[in-house]
Amino acid sequence: MIPFGCTAAPYYSADDRCDDDRGFHHGIDVALPCGTPIRAGVAGTVIDPSRPGSPGAAYGSKAFRLRVATDDGRVDVLIAHARSVKVRPGDRVRRGEVIAETGDLGAPDGCHLHFEQRATDGGLSTATNPARLLALRAG
Ligand SMILES: [Zn+2]
Repeated sequence: MIPFGCTAAPYYSADDRCDDDRGFHHGIDVALPCGTPIRAGVAGTVIDPSRPGSPGAAYGSKAFRLRVATDDGRVDVLIAHARSVKVRPGDRVRRGEVIAETGDLGAPDGCHLHFEQRATDGGLSTATNPARLLALRAG
C-alpha cells in the first residue's frame, strides 16, 4: 500500500525530509484481508511495552515490538494495526509461529500490516527501511 519513506498518502504530517509537504512513512504497509495470520519470519522476543520506544496510539492499541537478530545485529520490529495478538511480552517466538492477525486498529485506511524496523528500544527517528530484512527486491 505505502512504501517506506516520503509519501503522498494522506494522514501524514508534512516532514522536513520530503518535498511538496509530503509526509514520511516509517514502515511498509501491506494490504491484507482482516484477520490474516501474521507469522514470524525469524525467531525473536516480544518486548515489554513499558520499555522505551513503544509504539504510539497511531499504531493501534495492540501494536507490539519483537526483537530479532539480523546479520548486522539486533533490531526491533513493530507490528501495527493488528486486531488480535497471539503473543505476550517476554515470549520467545519461533520462526513460522502465528504472532497476530491483521486488523485496522488505529488505521484510517483499512486492514493491513504495518511493518517497521527500528533500533533496539529506539524511537521513530531510528526507523530504517525494512526491505532488506524482509528480503524484498525492487521489481
Ligand atoms: Zn504504515
